[in-house]
Amino acid sequence: MYLISNREMLKKAQRGGYAVPAFNVHNLETVQVVVETAAALSSPVILAGTPGTFIYAGLEYMVSICREAAHINHLPVVLHLDHHEEYDDICHKVQSGIRSVMIDGSHLSFEQNIEAVSRVVRFCQNYDVSVEAELGRLGGQEDDLAVDSKDSFYTDPMAAKEYVSRTGIDSLAVAIGSAHGLYHGEPHLDFDRLAAIRQQVDIPLVLHGASGIPEEQVRRAINFGICKVNVATDLKIAFADAVKAYFTEHPDANDPRKYITPGKEAMRKVVETKIHICGSAGMM
Ligand SMILES: [Zn+2]
Repeated sequence: MYLISNREMLKKAQRGGYAVPAFNVHNLETVQVVVETAAALSSPVILAGTPGTFIYAGLEYMVSICREAAHINHLPVVLHLDHHEEYDDICHKVQSGIRSVMIDGSHLSFEQNIEAVSRVVRFCQNYDVSVEAELGRLGGQEDDLAVDSKDSFYTDPMAAKEYVSRTGIDSLAVAIGSAHGLYHGEPHLDFDRLAAIRQQVDIPLVLHGASGIPEEQVRRAINFGICKVNVATDLKIAFADAVKAYFTEHPDANDPRKYITPGKEAMRKVVETKIHICGSAGMM
């Protein structure tokens, strides 16, 4: 078993009318929980790491752990570069075995964004690597990437059409009202805009910042053409809350095998729920 690109996985999801969940992983425990749960439910799955995660865990460790998890669980998995911006960094990680890339040029002008993304697409064509890019800009915070809501803007459908055809990307991250991190108040996705984008663009669409969006809205977004749903914050909260509760009950605990286990079980439930919301169970 091995690390694969998400190209065929997302095309199949698009044909089947479901989405593949992408979970941000940070260490051995998150990888174990996500891959074991996906395998138990026969769901395709994407393991995502931001630049900060690769610095924290180490590129070689991440590649080895994810590859081993795929092998042990008899499930080919995608290890995906989430919100990467640096060309040289992306090339190095692809050469180290990663087959799925998001190049985030959303902070650049339209023309500069196209230029940066096209350069990565050209490189990735040599390696059978799928490329995701973002047009429009999500608010909120993910790792060191913080975007004030006044600097966020939604994806324009006609610009999306031009963007996709000029860059040759495999999937498009859209800004339709979701945000990274925690929401202040209930989020409302712009479904009219999503439908208009879908009319102009025929590649799989990606929803970032899905943690905290009501289940019904995520399901509706999938019906409107979202094929990849990113989840980070919901896993972090479940893990941290369970570990905090364990220490409240056992203030003198010091064995990581004891206090980490409830955190893993809490994450497992979140992964199960997200797979069911995405409709991806049984699709592998
Ligand atoms: Zn994101």
